[in-house]
Amino acid sequence: MSSGGAIQIPSRLPLLLTHEGVLLPGSTVRFSVDSPRNMHLVKNRLLRGTSLKSTIIGLIPNTRDPEHEADDLPTLHKVGTAGIAVQVVGSNWPKPHYTLLITGLCRFSVTSLLKERPFVLAEVEQLDKLEQYTSPASDSVTTEDGELGELSQKFYQAALQLLGMLDMSVPVVAKFRRLLDSLPRETLPDVVASMIRTSNKEKLQVLDAVSLEERFKKALPMLTRQIEGLKLLQKTRKASPDNEKRVLSVRKGGVFPGRQFNLDEDDEDEDGDDMLSLEKRVHAANMPEAALRVCLKELKRLKKMPQSMPEYALTRNYLDLMVELPWSKSSKDRLDIQAARTLLNNDHYAMDKLKRRVLEYLAVRQLKASLKGPILCFVGPPGVGKTSVGRSIARTLGREFHRIALGGVCDQSDIRGHRRTYVGSMPGRIINGLKTVGVNNPVFLLDEVDKLGKSLQGDPAAALLEVLDPEQNHSFTDHYLNVAFDLSQVLFIATANTTATIPPALLDRMEVLQVPGYTQEEKVEIAHRHLIPNQLEQHGLTPQQLHIPQDTTLDIITRYTREAGVRSLERKIGTICRAVAVRVAEGHALSSPDSAPQSPMHQDGKAAPPEMPIVIDHVALKDILGPPPYEMEVSERLTLPGVALGLAWTPLGGEIMFVEASRTEGEGQLTLTGQLGDVMKESAHLAISWLRANAKRYELTNMGGAPDPLEGTDIHLHFPAGAVTKDGPSAGVTIVTCLASLFSGRLVRSDVAMTGEITLRGLVLPVGGIKDKVLAAHRAGVKCVILPKRNEKDLEDLPANVRAELDFVSAVNLEEVLNAAFDGGFPGKCGGRPLPQLMSKL
Ligand code: ADP
Repeated sequence: MSSGGAIQIPSRLPLLLTHEGVLLPGSTVRFSVDSPRNMHLVKNRLLRGTSLKSTIIGLIPNTRDPEHEADDLPTLHKVGTAGIAVQVVGSNWPKPHYTLLITGLCRFSVTSLLKERPFVLAEVEQLDKLEQYTSPASDSVTTEDGELGELSQKFYQAALQLLGMLDMSVPVVAKFRRLLDSLPRETLPDVVASMIRTSNKEKLQVLDAVSLEERFKKALPMLTRQIEGLKLLQKTRKASPDNEKRVLSVRKGGVFPGRQFNLDEDDEDEDGDDMLSLEKRVHAANMPEAALRVCLKELKRLKKMPQSMPEYALTRNYLDLMVELPWSKSSKDRLDIQAARTLLNNDHYAMDKLKRRVLEYLAVRQLKASLKGPILCFVGPPGVGKTSVGRSIARTLGREFHRIALGGVCDQSDIRGHRRTYVGSMPGRIINGLKTVGVNNPVFLLDEVDKLGKSLQGDPAAALLEVLDPEQNHSFTDHYLNVAFDLSQVLFIATANTTATIPPALLDRMEVLQVPGYTQEEKVEIAHRHLIPNQLEQHGLTPQQLHIPQDTTLDIITRYTREAGVRSLERKIGTICRAVAVRVAEGHALSSPDSAPQSPMHQDGKAAPPEMPIVIDHVALKDILGPPPYEMEVSERLTLPGVALGLAWTPLGGEIMFVEASRTEGEGQLTLTGQLGDVMKESAHLAISWLRANAKRYELTNMGGAPDPLEGTDIHLHFPAGAVTKDGPSAGVTIVTCLASLFSGRLVRSDVAMTGEITLRGLVLPVGGIKDKVLAAHRAGVKCVILPKRNEKDLEDLPANVRAELDFVSAVNLEEVLNAAFDGGFPGKCGGRPLPQLMSKL
């Protein structure tokens, strides 16, 4: 600063609202800021400015409770300190914040607020004269007569006495001694008050004392108290060199950046308020005995730790988490089966079996409060409403809902947390979820348990086991917490696409509820009852503005989507809504030939709003969604011998699958393509062996008409889509049919699809996923499904309309399959020799 002359601080100052400390003129204090306003101030002012003036800001102690920081500006404290930012350090850990090193210059008061956003800017009036701080030891006060002179002399003497009690060999003390003589007397109350141990409240009193006399009066008792305390300490501890050192521990703040005398350990800390409130919160958190003991121990450690130590933040974070966890906070269950039934029915169409089981589950819970029942696991293709049923269950119970996505989790610390010895250690997802919901009895949806991975960092499934086991989970120990947390009140629900990849031990703990795909009719209902109204609302449209007729919906379902659930259907409806929203906003009618003609233009020349509602017909649909990606292709592709239609099951639902075969001259080799697994390859060999063995009976020949179909012939079997890996025995009957068609030169019926495992003797064995497969056949427009006899019972699960619309042939052996697959039976009209009936003995 310039020498001589009164220095004026700028009359407009950006204001920093500080919670954690009070800056007095003449001292340097480190502040951590993270509130939006303060962050803006640092970003827009301190980091952007280039002049010295731009580094001067005003600090106003915020006396309001920081917990209740609202968006609106609190009433500002009447006196603040203008300060110069000496250093700005930004960090993102544990949350974005800046640390500012600020040296106090002088007091000011706010005369008017200029703006509140993005940071506070105010017109200020300077209260202290700045030149006095910069001129060398002035004795303006000492020469003054009267009370003030006396006071300042007394204060000076007391400060000297304090220094006399400290060890001069410590550089900080020596520097303070030098400063004491070179500083103007009137600055002493501020400087000393910020160096000795004073609480924030006391510092605030010194700051508020605008008149010098009052300032001396306020600071003197604090100084005397410090001296008395030190005397007592020295007396009781027999001043050993050790103690001297302890007396001078390094504290934050003070005249020297980052330093302050810590004159008495038992004295009130300036973080005391903060610690006190943390301690109160620890006691108020109502945690179990063991956790409380750990917390108190950590708290004790924390109190002894300087804030600059990295461990301070770690311990602090840990304690904050412990305090926030809902150890004994729970929401009240509201269990009314009648209401639950209504709510489930209102939220979801169809899925009766699932809804029934969920209601049973809830009913048992109502009768027996502490249910150690199985964990429900909804298994089914994507988009069939597994998550949304989970959400409904939480709603019927009046509980909080939290979804934990497990897809791709391959580290057990994801579930159980990292030990606190790691840098950046965190609690696991379970504890984090509990912190988020704030109660200990939420509904946790463990999404995609079938997609848990495994890695060197331990098996997450093993950690989940502990979470889900009712015998163990009352004392679940997260590595980060390192104390047990009772999870027994949490209601866990899991979802998966398939049970095949769920670790067996985990599967054992769960009750699997299959959620199969929907039929077209169900999808139309779901669309009209739920998806369309939801999407309309999400896009700000009303039924008066957009109408999607039922056959358009059916068109979307059959030609624009091919899925078991309704997720892409929902997306397509969303696309339509967006397109219509643009039209509505623009005020144009949709360019559909048979939609109503445009209304006449308004007088002002603007286009009139479109005729409402905009009806989405087939033309409009094509306009918006483009040409349909899926056409009914079944009948078209069965126009050659050597093609048959199979049914496959994938975790995404059932699918139809064409099996194609061709033959060329060769040496009897079989080529298989389409990324087949071993089981499928074996099925192909089985099929060929069986056909060769029965070639005569079924009049199968090679290309030249010889009775062995493989003689001088190479065969190629292909399973589209070539990029998808396929495996499983259920394609057996399809391969046989396809080859029989190839060897006999006859076409397979174009409206037949089939599934079933085969044996070498020609029996047809049952397979899984019948419901999904039949639904896929129905979706694809197939009329007849051939399936193993022993799968007949699975047909009961099918919706009545699907059963009515499809013909089912349940086959015991391959002969029955072939007879149903070819028009007029197989080997056709001429083949008449009846064979002894083969019956399965399995
Ligand atoms: P999943 O968890 O099985 O993959 P979601 O629960 O995310 O599927 O469901 C996808 C969307 O489909 C959601 O918007 C859901 O509300 C809707 N949905 C699915 N099934 C039904 C149904 N039976 N009735 C009403 N809406 C449904």
